[in-house]
Amino acid sequence: MDTVLVTGAAGFVGSHLCDLFISKGFKVIGFDSFISGNLKNIEHLSCSDKFTFMNFDVTKEAKLNFRVDLILHFASLASPVYYMNFPVETLLVNSIGTLNMIRLAKDNNARFVFASTSEVYGDPLIHPQVEGYFGNVNPVGLRSVYDEGKRFAESLTMAYFRKYSLDTRILRIFNTYGPRMRPDDGRVIPNFIVKALKNEDIEVYGDGSQTRSFCYVDDLVKGIFGVAIEEGINGEIVNLGNPEEVGILDLANLIKEITNSKSRIISKEPVSDDPKRRCPDISKVRRLTGWEPKVSLRKGLARTVEYFKSKV
Ligand code: UDP
Repeated sequence: MDTVLVTGAAGFVGSHLCDLFISKGFKVIGFDSFISGNLKNIEHLSCSDKFTFMNFDVTKEAKLNFRVDLILHFASLASPVYYMNFPVETLLVNSIGTLNMIRLAKDNNARFVFASTSEVYGDPLIHPQVEGYFGNVNPVGLRSVYDEGKRFAESLTMAYFRKYSLDTRILRIFNTYGPRMRPDDGRVIPNFIVKALKNEDIEVYGDGSQTRSFCYVDDLVKGIFGVAIEEGINGEIVNLGNPEEVGILDLANLIKEITNSKSRIISKEPVSDDPKRRCPDISKVRRLTGWEPKVSLRKGLARTVEYFKSKV
């Protein structure tokens, strides 16, 4: 394997993936349409002869005049605030966009790695979530554009694996955070850090007893790399995330402490269809690739706070 195509290359996770693959000696081609990506995330790669960038919307059919060995399909809105603002685009990038990229993989005889999400489990009724769980998803709720878009894409990926023996892997990525998230991203960690650094009210939706499990981005991209390059795991579906589960109110207090903030923590209306608990069972990926997240929440938050200090 030599050449990798990363869709969503200027995004938060996509840009870190480009860095990692280049550091491992791969040639990387990055696609992004900038609906939520940011050129600044990949500016430092512009002088690398290993990196080629194309401003490209994957919902348009792609014809390449070079071959790729591996496609990492990471283009999608991912923050609830963003995907609810761009509901149709979210459905299309995960349906038509995935079809276009998977056809490209088939034409190139390339491996196809799809960035799915813990959202396919919806508001889960079992904890922690294992890959065999079918989920508890509202097909017409506000989050459905993302959840059902990703579920369709998973189904399409498996159809290509079964029907055409395409070499595929599906990654169910749980909450991830770190440098290069947008200050206006809308997700909980950037929101809380930005408010804390400005000493403004930190808004907890509902009573804050809902939980998430947050993975630091450096850990996550190492996990993705491991699954992408491992031989003999075609057609596998794996959870990737950090099983350290935390309540949202506790998270607010931790961020307040790390930033030494004078912010008040206030309670706001709960949001509709907000999953109550989320925590990955990562025994499968551990068994298949040996991957394990290493960065604790406190350490990862401290690094992320440093990044956001220059942004607010
Ligand atoms: N949340 C919050 N305040 C915020 C943003 C989010 O209390 O300013 C809560 C949200 O309701 C959810 C959790 O934090 O329970 C994680 O939300 P996020 O949007 O980061 O991602 P999700 O896991 O819901 O996709």
